[in-house]
Amino acid sequence: MAEHLTNTDSEQYIVTARKWRPQRFADVVGQEHVSRTLRNAVESKRIHHAYIFNGPRGVGKTTTARILAKAVNCENPSAECEPCNVCASCTDINTGRSMDVIEIDGASNNSVDDIRKLRENAKYPPVKGQYKMYIIDEIHMLSSSAFNALLKTLEEPPRHLLFVFATTEPHKIPATILSRCQRFDFRRMQIDEIAAQLRYISEQEGISIDDETLAIIGKKGDGSMRDSQSIFDQVLAFCGKNVEYARVNEALNLIDTEFYFTLGRAIREHDVAKILEIAREVFMRGYDLQECLHGLAEHFRNLLTVLATGSASLIEASKLHREQYMSESTHFTQADVLQYMTIIMNTEQQLRYAPQPRLRFEFALVQMAKLDSAVLLSELLAELAELKKKLPELGEGIKEKGKGVKVEEEDDDLEDLSVLDSSPVDVAPNDVPEELSVEHISSENLDENLAESQAEIPAQSAPKAAPRFITAAILQAEWREALEGHEKLDAAIKTYLQTPAMVRVQCGDAELVFSADMDFVADKFVECKQQLSEMLSAALGGEVRIRVVGGSAAGGAASLFQAFVENSGEESKTLESVPELAVQEQEQISSSPTTIQSSANTSNDGLFSGKAFQMKEQAPPPPKKPSAAELHELDRAIIEHFGATEILVRT
Ligand SMILES: [Zn+2]
Repeated sequence: MAEHLTNTDSEQYIVTARKWRPQRFADVVGQEHVSRTLRNAVESKRIHHAYIFNGPRGVGKTTTARILAKAVNCENPSAECEPCNVCASCTDINTGRSMDVIEIDGASNNSVDDIRKLRENAKYPPVKGQYKMYIIDEIHMLSSSAFNALLKTLEEPPRHLLFVFATTEPHKIPATILSRCQRFDFRRMQIDEIAAQLRYISEQEGISIDDETLAIIGKKGDGSMRDSQSIFDQVLAFCGKNVEYARVNEALNLIDTEFYFTLGRAIREHDVAKILEIAREVFMRGYDLQECLHGLAEHFRNLLTVLATGSASLIEASKLHREQYMSESTHFTQADVLQYMTIIMNTEQQLRYAPQPRLRFEFALVQMAKLDSAVLLSELLAELAELKKKLPELGEGIKEKGKGVKVEEEDDDLEDLSVLDSSPVDVAPNDVPEELSVEHISSENLDENLAESQAEIPAQSAPKAAPRFITAAILQAEWREALEGHEKLDAAIKTYLQTPAMVRVQCGDAELVFSADMDFVADKFVECKQQLSEMLSAALGGEVRIRVVGGSAAGGAASLFQAFVENSGEESKTLESVPELAVQEQEQISSSPTTIQSSANTSNDGLFSGKAFQMKEQAPPPPKKPSAAELHELDRAIIEHFGATEILVRT
């Protein structure tokens, strides 16, 4: 390493950051990508006239700028183009006396006048060296007119001029400036890099210091060499030349890693009394609550890495603590740790605005202690599946219970089943979720009942479907498929019947309603609908009924809407009358017993498509054509009344 400012007893004390400031590109720690590029530029004489050094505080931006200034002006540069630090130019720059290197604080010299002054002075060539360098710190603080004034110089700079702009917030610099500069991003320093540099300094100064202390200083320095060196100075002031970890904690009022282990243990043991005691200690010692939470989050993060990777290699801690993390992790699951971390993260945010941070802090700790051990849903399901395999008779028992009494007596026809389905099913609340049991009943019984009729059904729709939840969309898709495969209906009728007028899906059963305006469609369709209904029921594993409204036998689908229009003054009455009307019509047209239903039971959870309300031109009393607003109103009313969540798009 190059010469450094001397620091003997008789001389003034110089802080570590200044005393050990790197003097050559090779000495800069952690920014090799920048120093190598710059040295190569000097070597090949391809010096750009303006550089932007971006990065967090204390990572070597100004230091690197000074080294660059020395390197381009040095009288005896080394073979690697490093400054000699001996010649007049180098020593002037090192001691801050150089006329050719001007450092400006952009935060306090941010006006357009300051920049004008700079431009005036920049015209004059350098006194000693080849280049005159302006280092502007915090360049993002310049006013916009100051930036504009600077732009003029950047556009056509004199040959001798060199700018280095240092910033922590490059996004605040105008694009016009950025585009005229070469940008270098300095990175935060790793704890290891800081610790290594501090160890080197300690060795040079004859200070004994342990690894744990160096790690903790590096961690507290938060990626900044200058901050770390300041903390290092503070520790030296407290401990003298013999630095011990225990005393360092005292000196910096740091929370010991051991403290987090104690706290973590209390949390996993649900020991609220202990938690409150620890919280009190935190307040008594005057620890920063945010820092404490931050440390606890890191503690759990460390545990998580051990749980996830099975090793402690990703933990930034001493060897002793790494081993401790390995053994402590056996008491936690990943899900537990994630829950704790979520609470901590939320609390960290809320603590800033909490009127009583202490309470908020305590609350978070107690909340964590009170958490039950988390179980992954996937694990639970796997266990359940395992259990089912072991005890098949148990599974049967649940099904039997779900069926209720009725089903076992009446398992010979579908009609009874439909009545059962639409009424609430008798299930013991703790046994099985209600929907699940309903699905079971439907499929079980359908399988038995459809055994005979399946002989007639075309082969492609024969495969037995597992019970599943169906939506209106699924039902419609299945309907189209069934319709397509049907042999008796001709293509024109199929096209006509593509979209049902009304689709209603309720737990366990479903209904499709068609408005068949033309008699030949209605007649033909009524013939086939029983078969289609059975096909759908088999495919979906639930009861699916098909109803035809229309034809010469009744007012048709138009009257479905007519009822609404006529009574539109009284909304509630109208809407109640809609299903009743539908039932009447259905009774007249359809002779099938499968469609028998009570409007009280089935009008809930309905899902309607707008097609049900399409007008029928040749219907005897010419119905009033609904306006767009009325249709919209009708949709809204249907949603409200029937609790439907979806209205199909009107065609
Ligand atoms: Zn030199």
